[in-house]
Amino acid sequence: MDDHDLLIAGAGAAGLARAWFRLAAAPSLRLCVAEAAPRAGGWMRSVPRDGYLCEAGPQGFRPNEATDELCAALGVAGDVVPAAAAAQRRWVLLRGRMVALPAGPGQFLASPLLSFGDKLRLFGEPWRRRGDDPEESMADFLVRRFGRGTRPLAEALAHGIFAGDAARLEMASMFPLLTELEQRHGSVVRGLFRRKRDRSKPRVQRPVLCSFRGGMAGLADRFVRELGDRLLLGTPVQSLQKDGDHYVVGFGGARPRSVRAREVALALPSAAAAALVAGFDPALAADLQQIRSASVASVYLGAPRERFAHPLDGFGCLAPKHDSPLLGVLLCSSVFPDHAPRGHALLRVMTGGAEHPREIDRSDAELCAQAAGHARALFGLSGEPTFLHVERCRDAIAQFEKGHRARLERIGARLSHHPGLSLLGACYRQIAVVGQWTAEGSRP
Ligand SMILES: Cc1cc2nc3c(=O)[nH]c(=O)nc-3n(C[C@H](O)[C@H](O)[C@H](O)COP(=O)(O)OP(=O)(O)OC[C@H]3O[C@@H](n4cnc5c(N)ncnc54)[C@H](O)[C@@H]3O)c2cc1C
Repeated sequence: MDDHDLLIAGAGAAGLARAWFRLAAAPSLRLCVAEAAPRAGGWMRSVPRDGYLCEAGPQGFRPNEATDELCAALGVAGDVVPAAAAAQRRWVLLRGRMVALPAGPGQFLASPLLSFGDKLRLFGEPWRRRGDDPEESMADFLVRRFGRGTRPLAEALAHGIFAGDAARLEMASMFPLLTELEQRHGSVVRGLFRRKRDRSKPRVQRPVLCSFRGGMAGLADRFVRELGDRLLLGTPVQSLQKDGDHYVVGFGGARPRSVRAREVALALPSAAAAALVAGFDPALAADLQQIRSASVASVYLGAPRERFAHPLDGFGCLAPKHDSPLLGVLLCSSVFPDHAPRGHALLRVMTGGAEHPREIDRSDAELCAQAAGHARALFGLSGEPTFLHVERCRDAIAQFEKGHRARLERIGARLSHHPGLSLLGACYRQIAVVGQWTAEGSRP
């Protein structure tokens, strides 16, 4: 039986980054990364077709100091493509109408998003009482602090960005900074002002979103080259057992076998991790099973630009829950112009989410017809699209619902009984892809 220092299960963003950071710190580490799929990258998968570029999962990443450093260390800084300036402009769908999302506090006051009374209520935020429910939902938090006029906005953010329901997502897990500011300063607004005032370093201006030349898979490909034959593709981890201070890991795939490892990192969807730990820790498995994930269907729709009545001069629009499975529409070629052939536009119409779990099972023809309808109604597409491509992400976006924080604490406590075992990935603390690109990763 082969012996490893570290076995990582899953080569998505989290597993690849963990492997790279650990190798960078200890080049002689005996490392193995086992990935079930025939390719690495998880949801970071870019599909070039007919001159268009479609992404299975993340459209881009929000750059920060850590991503600058990582890209430089990997030698891909030159491949980073910033979003066009238009990406700053976003809309929300309110009663079927696209309304510009305010980019700052000043624009809020001029925005038709809120009534006059709602705007007045915003000014009362610094004097509202501190919350005392650690499981308060996103909708309840925003309404309590900023007034009930903000509910549609909360619903659009939860639905359009996190494919979830604002009444179920837990504020402290989704936006920990805002709940911490409230607790520390008694007010989110006061806390944000003090934070700005106390910032020791001047803020670096970065683009709102970046991708890589050739799409998000570019980063995964770079990690893969670094890993070489330490990465085993088509190798699902099917069993995990404790053996003294080691773990015995069973591989399936074309070459089923077992290996031993001193450390095991499960960089998997939480349900897959639950199945592996159930044999030696049913309580841990039960908590992992409770983390729901939402499915998202994306229809990529392309057409000559002049066939859209709308100027397509923004990032896209977010849709609130209501009864529609529409999550939002991304104007991919306005954000990254090289994602469509010259003179053409590419839209990504996303549907499904936690509230519409059956959407993902609709046929390609149904999804495409529905997407074309949205493109006509919202962006004035005339005639039929000349390009259509469907991507399905099943059980892909973790839902940090009420009780999530408490669950992570229990998971952390259970893990302390299993030295050498760790969990990481987008199911725990950070949904965004950059949350996975740090040395620690996003873990309970
Ligand atoms: C539709 C969609 C849009 C998104 N858009 C954005 C965006 O614009 N910006 C952003 O920052 N983030 C976005 N995200 C989130 C981002 O994609 C995730 O944060 C990130 O990709 C998660 O990486 P991960 O490694 O945690 O998980 P995954 O990508 O799910 O990787 C897990 C890996 O484990 C493998 N695996 C599963 N079971 C086993 C097993 N038994 N053995 C071995 N391997 C196994 C899987 O095949 C997979 O490769 C989006 C996600 C989706 C789905």
